[in-house]
Amino acid sequence: MATWQCGLCLYLYDEQNESVAWEALPKEWICPVCGSGKESFSLVASNPPASAPIGAQTDAKKEYLAEWRRPSDDVEVNMADIQSRHRRAPRLCAPYRQ
Ligand SMILES: [Zn+2]
Repeated sequence: MATWQCGLCLYLYDEQNESVAWEALPKEWICPVCGSGKESFSLVASNPPASAPIGAQTDAKKEYLAEWRRPSDDVEVNMADIQSRHRRAPRLCAPYRQ
């Protein structure tokens, strides 16, 4: 992914944000701000694909979630019971409504 900058208005074309490679743009493409042609742009940044760091982040996230993993589903069982009681029980506030 690369970033190209308009030499006239300094508009930045970031391939990552635009999701279209600079080379894939037609040669009659113009700067959306000032209307300059592609020849007015120059390469200002060229970033390598970020596949490796993203994989590392995924692993770090799994590690973080492992901290919250429970040995059993006791909480879910209790929640089902609470919801069941709530459905069967008379509304406590009903007598106070008018
Ligand atoms: Zn421009």
